[in-house]
Amino acid sequence: MTKKVSIIGAGPGGLTSAMILANQGYDVTVFEKQDYIGGRTSSFTLNNYTFDLGPTFLMMDYILKEIFENTGRDLEDYIDIKEIDPLYRLVFKGKREFYPTRDQQVMVKEIEEMFPGNGEGYKKFMKKEKEKFEKLIPCLQVPYGRRRDFLTKRFLRSIGYLDAHISLYDKLGEYFNDDDLKIAFTFQSKYLGMSPWECPGTFSILSYIEHGGGIYHVMGGLNQITKAMAKVVEEEGGEIKLSTAVDKVIIENGKAIGVKLENGDIEYSDHVVLNADFAHAMNNLVEDKHKKKYTNKKLEEKKYSCSTFMLYLGVDKIYDIPHHNIIFSDDYKKNVDEITKYKILSEDPSIYIQNASVSDSSLAPEGKSTIYVLVPVANNSGNINWKEEKSKLREKVLDIMENKAGLKDIREHIEVERIITPIEWEEEKDVYRGAVFNLAHNVGQMLYFRPHNEFEEFENCYLVGGGTHPGSGLPTIFESGKISSKLIMKKDGIKVKEKVTSKA
Ligand SMILES: Cc1cc2nc3c(=O)[nH]c(=O)nc-3n(C[C@H](O)[C@H](O)[C@H](O)COP(=O)(O)OP(=O)(O)OC[C@H]3O[C@@H](n4cnc5c(N)ncnc54)[C@H](O)[C@@H]3O)c2cc1C
Repeated sequence: MTKKVSIIGAGPGGLTSAMILANQGYDVTVFEKQDYIGGRTSSFTLNNYTFDLGPTFLMMDYILKEIFENTGRDLEDYIDIKEIDPLYRLVFKGKREFYPTRDQQVMVKEIEEMFPGNGEGYKKFMKKEKEKFEKLIPCLQVPYGRRRDFLTKRFLRSIGYLDAHISLYDKLGEYFNDDDLKIAFTFQSKYLGMSPWECPGTFSILSYIEHGGGIYHVMGGLNQITKAMAKVVEEEGGEIKLSTAVDKVIIENGKAIGVKLENGDIEYSDHVVLNADFAHAMNNLVEDKHKKKYTNKKLEEKKYSCSTFMLYLGVDKIYDIPHHNIIFSDDYKKNVDEITKYKILSEDPSIYIQNASVSDSSLAPEGKSTIYVLVPVANNSGNINWKEEKSKLREKVLDIMENKAGLKDIREHIEVERIITPIEWEEEKDVYRGAVFNLAHNVGQMLYFRPHNEFEEFENCYLVGGGTHPGSGLPTIFESGKISSKLIMKKDGIKVKEKVTSKA
């Protein structure tokens, strides 16, 4: 008999599971609260400008390709992926500009010119981090539901590469002696919403992933990924119900048996897949009597990622700056500490600017462009009064764009704009504390210590998305969808028909 699956949320995690399970013959329904597909990986338009709401960097695109291949499809028939190289422009102290590239010969030359004596360190980084990446990635493709999952040969062989005892910043000190260069290879911890001085050294693989595997843009924006996934779900007979919020997971005798919708309807199913933001879902969709490990109180004690202040601008010209630009605060460590430790706004914040129209003319009318600005800020566990600070931070960000980023006349060219603060992430997008990169990725919240893919509080419930293993970021979120789908199939005694499997 066909088994039914209810999936809560049409983010990349939920859609990965929906694609896989619908393709394997399950009767899949995805319930999505918003009236659009994709969760944080969605788009919105302002007049004729199209913006990605969240992700702008696609890495490890082969994982996505393999998911499509396993359903008998070619990803290229759905989306058009373009590599961005040089990877990004990095601006230090408003003047020192560095353009890391995947061309290793050029990279050594540029490092030697800008950071004399560090060329060898770069070569060592590329060699050692490749080995580390190859050992660690397979460990992120399997579940950690039991302590004994740490005893597999795969995991034991990776222990020497974990570097969990040192910080990411100190790890990079093994390769480089220049502070700016260390920042160029550690700022990626921001993708996890963490400080390089606190993030485990394990995550040096993030900068290796960029330098070794590349950074990709999807024409039309990364939102095209989730739109393509939704198309596949429907082609496979699955149903996606937009504007259909789940009110509660129905749990009986320790088992999830379906969902109650906000409109009062009850939908029974054999399995429930939870993609909504983990802490938000626990607090709002699961009744207290069913929780022991993830009660509201215990969730408060967990560590969370930072949040973001977003400024999306439609401008009536195209700026001659690269696709990706990161403008670091003059005192980057102070800025990071203010975000993660002191939870206050920085006088001198770091900002990321995406100028995607230089690579993709589909996002704005001819001769015009979309400018996406992301400012990492504290999550809502601090006391920032966003009502007051919102317009002040907007002005500060525009000043930085004018003075440090080469967008001198930006104020005169803005035609449309939208701002999202951590308050909107929490209240409108249902992200706990506005911590957009989910639970932090400290050692105590990774692998077995992260909420399990086969959820431990009650049976027949599986987690996907940034709040479960392997963690936040599109490649790992896709992996969570794969891992949880395989667990469901295993439980139902279905042999997994994978044609290809992700290899590092
Ligand atoms: C600003 C920003 C930039 C980012 N940049 C990158 C990047 O460049 N590269 C990268 O790899 N990652 C990036 N990320 C991180 C991550 O990849 C995305 O946030 C990703 O979309 C998270 O996917 P998810 O499946 O965990 O959850 P989501 O995308 O949040 O999806 C969860 C879905 O559940 C729905 N939902 C919630 N409650 C209910 C309910 N009660 N009933 C029904 N549905 C519900 C939500 O509406 C949402 O659609 C970024 C994130 C943000 C916010």
